[in-house]
Amino acid sequence: AHRVVLAARPQGEATLDDLRHEAFDPPAPGDGEVALRTIWLSLDPYMRGRMDDAKSYAKPVSLGEVMTGQTVGEVTASNHPDFAPGDIATGMTGWTSHAVMPGDELRKLDPSRAPVQAALGVLGMPGLTAWVGVNDILEAQSGQTLLISAATGAVGTVAGQVAKAKGCRVVGVAGGPEKCDFATSELGYDACIDHHANADGRAMAEAIAKVAPDGVDGYFENVGGKTLAGAIQNMNDFGRIAICGMVAWYGGQNLDQGPMGPVLWRNMLTRKLTARGFIIFDHWHRFPDFLDEVAPMVADGRVSYRESVTEGLEYAPKAFLDMLKGGNFGKTLVRVGAD
Ligand code: NDP
Repeated sequence: AHRVVLAARPQGEATLDDLRHEAFDPPAPGDGEVALRTIWLSLDPYMRGRMDDAKSYAKPVSLGEVMTGQTVGEVTASNHPDFAPGDIATGMTGWTSHAVMPGDELRKLDPSRAPVQAALGVLGMPGLTAWVGVNDILEAQSGQTLLISAATGAVGTVAGQVAKAKGCRVVGVAGGPEKCDFATSELGYDACIDHHANADGRAMAEAIAKVAPDGVDGYFENVGGKTLAGAIQNMNDFGRIAICGMVAWYGGQNLDQGPMGPVLWRNMLTRKLTARGFIIFDHWHRFPDFLDEVAPMVADGRVSYRESVTEGLEYAPKAFLDMLKGGNFGKTLVRVGAD
């Protein structure tokens, strides 16, 4: 068996030296436990936060410990009544080819319902995040204009299509013309702004104003940086901001970007804005409602999605670091073993 562990705490931007691929012997499953062979590993921006030793909403990964992460795997042995060899299940087993987990911490998947890896993206945590953000945090209404950053990523893909289905006008921000084309032609965004073509917050503000001349009612914030700077200057009175992530700042870089501090604060006041941070752990009770609504939309193609697949666990560190800089196109996945 093999796995990826945290080798060092990143100093600023994470590097390949901070992660180590190594062999190990997996234990045998004990009472109530299940042994799994990993098929798919999900790579997500939050993992960057787990590499730091700072206080956050979740415990950091310890040095030498397997990197945290959700996987889809095949059950190879089971001491739990709900699981049998050959079952496909998802859980937080980490960046590892084999794992042993309490059966109570796993969820069985039905491979006939959707491709099993959808449980890591469009029908999993990122999809739920998007759906909760649009419905419960932004409280989006038909006719409103929404702005969504990281528009073609795992979360943005679902946020854009769910908002569109509600009757919103939806503007995306993405990195590069290819992603922007995909946003408008495949995901149904009404417009998409290439942030690479807009160097700073002022340019972003002008670009947003051009495609959202009536202003922005709801901003789904995934990135921070110059995109936030541009967004804040286009918000309508009583607009809402769902603070979901700020990936532009996860490595401590670009902290000088944007109108942070006084300008942000002044706009919050004068435009009478509501900004609400949310962490999806607090919203798992919404998962059944989310699946009821979005799973049929995925099944009949009303919600489409794209995956960025890397073959082989040993390449997960590079795929992860690339994703933090926009190297992914859609949900970032590692195929660890054969389906
Ligand atoms: P994505 O698939 O969207 O991948 C990250 C994307 O961020 C990149 O593809 C890139 O897209 C964009 N990006 C990176 N750097 C910058 C930058 N400097 N400026 C603008 N965009 C940048 O990841 P996810 O969909 O999984 O996650 C999206 C966000 O949602 C993250 O911030 C994540 O932390 C957050 N999140 C929060 C949750 C919560 O509970 N609050 C739960 C899940 C996710 P591009 O090339 O288009 O710039």
